[in-house]
Amino acid sequence: MQLKDKTILITGATSGIGLASARLFARQGATLILGARRKTELDAICESINCTGGQAISLSGDVRDEEYGKNLVNIAINKFGKLDGAFNNAGILGDLDPITELPRASWETVIETNLTAAFLGAKHQIPALLKQTNSTLIFTSSFVGYSTGITGMAAYAASKAGLIGLTQTLAAEYGAEGLRVNALLPGGTETPMGDAVMTTPEIKAYFDGLHSLRRQAKPEEIAHSALYLASDASSFVTGTAHLADGGISIFRA
Ligand code: NAP
Repeated sequence: MQLKDKTILITGATSGIGLASARLFARQGATLILGARRKTELDAICESINCTGGQAISLSGDVRDEEYGKNLVNIAINKFGKLDGAFNNAGILGDLDPITELPRASWETVIETNLTAAFLGAKHQIPALLKQTNSTLIFTSSFVGYSTGITGMAAYAASKAGLIGLTQTLAAEYGAEGLRVNALLPGGTETPMGDAVMTTPEIKAYFDGLHSLRRQAKPEEIAHSALYLASDASSFVTGTAHLADGGISIFRA
């Protein structure tokens, strides 16, 4: 029970890494506030967690909306009295076009969803997190924008690289007050987002082969890295770009 007595907010909880983390965090004793846009899916996930001995509530909305970010924190405080951790994980891939053909609106949608929303979330989470000891803030970044350039992913890479800068700055700003801030960098992961890129067996085999482990992650494997960063097991870890990337950053065939 690594998260016993901790109240943790997770965005992007309706699928993939966020959903796997919600299930794992619940099993590890956390009380959860889950966010994403799809209400029906969120309700069903909460029900299944609550039916199996966990404790979760949800609020649907768009992370680009500052009021929504504020309300997620308010729900944590009003229902559970505190917030110990926030896992800002929601993200999109966006349109995969060469930059000369990428509409400004497509760029902005990705930056707003992946980077600006993380800033807005953190802005409202931090005052609540600072009231607790051993609180943690996690952003889901990516191997894309860190170790690996993939054609067509300029906006996505820029947003994910931006999260590492945000992480380092917030870790420096709030370390003295005991708040730890880390970016989690998954490698390729088998989620609806990942599947959208793996459109043929050949493309999937190519991406599998970029990783030292010659495969991509299950979302549950990334959730275990999120658990480490959210728990007191990582009590001296802050400001990191924490790799859970199957070795894609070091592998050269
Ligand atoms: P996913 O299965 O597509 O999940 C994305 C989640 O984000 C969903 O729960 C989605 O829920 C939510 N979301 C998207 N836009 C939102 C918005 N505007 N407001 C609120 N929620 C929103 O993808 P995933 O692979 O688990 O991705 C999770 C994170 O990992 C993302 O930040 C992604 O960039 C990162 N990542 C993924 C990979 C990979 O290979 N899969 C690798 C490295 C990093 P709704 O649709 O219900 O809103």
